[in-house]
Amino acid sequence: MRVECLGGTEPELAVVGGIHGDEPCGVNAIERILADPPAFERAVQFIIVNEEAIEADKRYLEKDLNRAFPGDPDGPTHESRLAAKLTEQLGDCLTFSMHSTQSYDGTFALIHEPDDRVTPVLKQLSVDAVVDVGSHSDGRLFDAVPTTIEVECGYQGSEQATENASRLVREFLGATGALPPVDRAGAEPAPLFRLDRQIPKDKASSYSVYASNFELVAAGEPFAAADNREVSADEPFYPVLMSPYGYEAVFGYTAQRLGTVDEFDKLAE
Ligand SMILES: [Zn+2]
Repeated sequence: MRVECLGGTEPELAVVGGIHGDEPCGVNAIERILADPPAFERAVQFIIVNEEAIEADKRYLEKDLNRAFPGDPDGPTHESRLAAKLTEQLGDCLTFSMHSTQSYDGTFALIHEPDDRVTPVLKQLSVDAVVDVGSHSDGRLFDAVPTTIEVECGYQGSEQATENASRLVREFLGATGALPPVDRAGAEPAPLFRLDRQIPKDKASSYSVYASNFELVAAGEPFAAADNREVSADEPFYPVLMSPYGYEAVFGYTAQRLGTVDEFDKLAE
């Protein structure tokens, strides 16, 4: 794990890349900043996390790091020990952690129990959507550092994901006063969703997904298939993180739409 602190020595802000070793966008965005750092007005720590998995170009070596938090310094896997190390390094920093997906080429943010440090930042991010993970925080960084904003920056390995990650980091640093703010006057507030349940995937040799992420699936509408068996919706839902092969046992998640990031009081209800 590589840690570089800029703008001071007691950071309350953290920018994290490389939780997953095969998602280069966050690592690239951090390397760009470190190569030519601007003048920071607040201390920020930049962390490239799973260097061993990045070197191997694998999501993880022994266990998915984003299912291993809070981790254990004497744990049985590389990722369990690394999770504990990162948890200690982050403390209660407001944390910005970058990922990429196989399910969506746009950008969205993931949050858990947003507080008054998190919500003002979300309004400054140029993302297509904000998703509250609800009860689905198991082992994610949220379980160790609740003041985390995760961003999905686009397709894994794409140049666009690196560009998106660089833009979103700049917006995060502007929203937190580490750098001058980014002018987003006139930008529409992002829609806000909450994850509901996982959509199980039967064993099959091939899968398809017809639904588009963040676009409503109507009751009775077929939205995916396992081999030739179509899967239909019992109730209307918004699909999130839906893809044919992104996860082993699920297609993705159903979500409900709560409103927009300008209406955070609804989340507290
Ligand atoms: Zn990831």
